[in-house]
Parts: sequence; C-alpha cells; structure tokens
Amino acid sequence: ATPTSIMVGTGRGAEMGVLFRKGEALQLLKDARVVAVDKTGTLTEGRPSLTDLEVAPGFDEAHVLRLIAAVEARSEHPIARAIVQAAEARGLALPSLDAFESVTGMGVRATVAGARVEVGADRYMRSLGLPVEVFADTAERLGNEGKSPLYAAVDGQLAAIVAVADPIKPSTPAAIAALHALGLKVAMITGDNARTARAIAARLGIDEVVAEVLPEGKVATLQRLKSTHGRVAFVGDGINDAPALAEADVGLAIGTGTDVAMEAADVVLMSGHLQGVPNAIALSRATLGNIR
Ligand code: ADP
Ligand code: MG
Repeated sequence: ATPTSIMVGTGRGAEMGVLFRKGEALQLLKDARVVAVDKTGTLTEGRPSLTDLEVAPGFDEAHVLRLIAAVEARSEHPIARAIVQAAEARGLALPSLDAFESVTGMGVRATVAGARVEVGADRYMRSLGLPVEVFADTAERLGNEGKSPLYAAVDGQLAAIVAVADPIKPSTPAAIAALHALGLKVAMITGDNARTARAIAARLGIDEVVAEVLPEGKVATLQRLKSTHGRVAFVGDGINDAPALAEADVGLAIGTGTDVAMEAADVVLMSGHLQGVPNAIALSRATLGNIR
C-alpha cells in the first residue's frame, strides 16, 4: 500500500467515526479472518439488571439481598450496580461493612453486620467448598435464558442464587451479519458462565464461544485463535480487555468504553457500536484492495 492510500483510508475512517491510531491497522484489517469480541459492554449494553433471586431453605430473601447489596456497593463491576439497584428499588437500607475484598474473575467478599458474605461465580463458591449443585436446575434454566447466574454465601453457607441479565445492544445483530457477509468468523470471549454465553451466542449466530475465561486467559485465547485461523481482530471495551487488545493483530476499542482499552487499541470506534468493525474492514478492503 502506498502512504497516500493509507492517508486516504484513515481520513475516510475518521469521517465515519473509525479512528486509526496506527496506519498499519488499516493494512492488517483487510486480511483479518476472525473477529473475536468481548461480550459485556461490547455485544451487550454492559448495564445488567437483577432478574431472579432464589434463596436456600432457612434464608430470607430481603435479608440476603440486603447483605449482598452491601458488599456490592463497594465493587465497580457492572453486576454490582445491578444488585445495588435492586436493593434500592425494594427500599432496603444497606448495612455498613468491613474487610471488603475483590477476588479477580471470581467475585467479592466482605463482613456485613457481623456476617461473612461472599458473592460471585459458581467457581468461586466451589473454591469455598460450597454445594452449588443444589441450585443446578435453576442455574440451567437461567443460563438457557441468557441470564448470568451468581451465588451468595453467608457465614459459610450457600444462601441464594441470583441472576442478572444484560440486554444485547440493538445494533449488534446487524453488525454480526455484516461481518459474516464479509466472510469473517465471529468468536465471543467472556468471563461469564458457559451456558449463558452459549445462549447469547446462539441468538446472535456467533460461530465460536470461549467462556469462563479469567482476565489473563483472554490473551491465551487470542494466541490460540491466531494459530488456528490466521489474522485475528479483537474488539473490547473494558480495563481487562487491554492485554487482549494489544495481543490481537488488530485491537479495536469501543469508544464509549474505558480509557485503558482505548489506549491499548489500534483503532477506536467512536460510535460505540460493533458496526464500526465491518465498516473498518470494508474500508480497508476498498482503499487497499482485496487481494491476498
Ligand atoms: P467479565 O468482564 O466477563 O464479567 P470478570 O473477570 O470481571 O469478567 O468476572 C468474571 C466473573 O466473576 C463474572 O462473570 C462473575 O460471575 C464474577 N464476578 C466478578 N465480579 C463480581 C462482582 N462484583 N459480583 C459478583 N460476581 C462477580
Ligand atoms: Mg466488556
């Protein structure tokens, strides 16, 4: 490609809200084979709400919600806001807490009004030796509905299963169809539970799902996709997407996401929508030719 065609291409990109931070990205994009996409905040709104709460025998729903909301009030995870809002909507006052701790890729814990409380993924509860299987039927149903099941423990006893649901952005289905029309495979990478991820992927026609990935696992997943498929673009918005954005052949950050993601990316999609990705690839092919 000539410097002129790259200048023209990046200029056209800017007009359509696709900012190339590196000219090389325009060149690399035209031969991308796979677009790997973070789920939360990229495919979905990133604003989940609490949809279900089922307590274990002997536990009171309002009491458990009050305890877990008190812990989540300290967390910055989107799940946390969903739980706190649900407690506020029911007019529950949140007790004060001690010894808050966030366990990466697992959940959160703290002492609330003298009770030890843990909230998080099934793997977190298993690591504490708690029998999440007692909620197996509910977890299966919630997952199939595309909701994310979480669990709460109080003083070392499994107390509840909770679900949050994060709506798919209205612009996402057309963007995935556009990527398919350009001949690309779409893969989803998420820390969320496998059944939930598969349900959402099925609704969107996503080709490959890698779920229950810890933050450091996103980079390893990209390395595997690159060695299996060839050139891989990754799209993400979160702080924990930064290493994957750097590892991908082309990293594209959602412009409404975190600064950390935008700084790690080669391309920033100002629209905040996945549609910027097929637009950028089509632009790359149009300005630099489609010959491999
Ligand atoms: P993701 O960005 O995919 O949510 P994370 O590594 O942030 O990945 O979290 C992985 C999983 O850990 C979440 O899907 C959730 O099950 C659990 N988790 C993380 N933070 C919290 C929290 N504040 N409250 C409850 N569960 C959490
Ligand atoms: Mg995200």
